[in-house]
Amino acid sequence: MTTMEIDLDLLDYLCHKGAHHIEAAVQGHQHLPRTVVGVGTFLLDHDGNLDLLTAKQRATFDKFLKPLLFDVPCQGFCHGDGRIESELLLKSYRDDEFLCRRCRQAVA
Ligand SMILES: [Zn+2]
Repeated sequence: MTTMEIDLDLLDYLCHKGAHHIEAAVQGHQHLPRTVVGVGTFLLDHDGNLDLLTAKQRATFDKFLKPLLFDVPCQGFCHGDGRIESELLLKSYRDDEFLCRRCRQAVA
């Protein structure tokens, strides 16, 4: 298993102010948003240590939180590799502007 460095500020945002992103991700699935937020807040309480998750929690993390934390597509006519860099994710969520670095530079 590879270690994933979770951006705790980003996770904190997604579990609170940005919970609508989790709600949107969960829509059409069996999971409840609060289940996913629960896994997120557990991780926040434990420094993002994934090893502490139960198998069920880990499955929930992999399915819903991991894509929101690590695999967010650039919504521009992408000049980059189609993914938003991790250091730009929180800003993207906050501004509701999902663009990678190269697309931001192209717009500027
Ligand atoms: Zn882009």
